[in-house]
Amino acid sequence: MAGVTVIDHPLIQHKLTLLRKKETGTGQFRVLLREISMLLAYEVTRDMPLKKVRIQTPLADMDSPVLEGKKLVLVSILRAGNAILEGMLELVPSARVGHIGLYREPDTLQVVEYYLKLPDDLPNREVLLVDPMLATGNSAVAAVNRLKDAEVRKLKYVCLLAAPEGIENMQNKHPDIPIFTAAIDERLDEHGYILPGLGDAGDRIFGTK
Ligand code: URA
Repeated sequence: MAGVTVIDHPLIQHKLTLLRKKETGTGQFRVLLREISMLLAYEVTRDMPLKKVRIQTPLADMDSPVLEGKKLVLVSILRAGNAILEGMLELVPSARVGHIGLYREPDTLQVVEYYLKLPDDLPNREVLLVDPMLATGNSAVAAVNRLKDAEVRKLKYVCLLAAPEGIENMQNKHPDIPIFTAAIDERLDEHGYILPGLGDAGDRIFGTK
């Protein structure tokens, strides 16, 4: 079974605390989330394979490492995933990008897909699936189902906060997919929000409430 990695870098933990605070406004929230996303991308891409290429510096020839293989793919679960996507793209600007639009039925918390656009050649690329909040895990499970339909072979799920319920759901349905998160919180409330969490990530990013 693939594990859960809590990325506990002090800069991420500090910025996450600022992000959680209810008095942090939309502008600052976006800045912090972009910064945290860059740091998450840095950690999550640490095992990307390299190959040596011959280059010339102004002084000498040398064999120097570059990323091997096809471009990385970042897949955002709309809409809140886009904020993580933006931060990660600053670090990996040539990554290919996919979007999966999912929403939760408020009464049943079941997932409905309303949009899907993915890059070509997914079986030969590494994919990072991004969404700030792993709450019930239903969206993550549905998104991974879609990516497996597209024959993605190398997939990591990256979020900011995870609830134990969401981790359990993912590990039951997709035990092969590693989860990366900045923190594991206590539990879900009766509306499926993570406690203590940070509220509704989409509303806080986009200022819609
Ligand atoms: N989605 C959010 O935006 N926040 C939560 O706490 C759970 C799901």
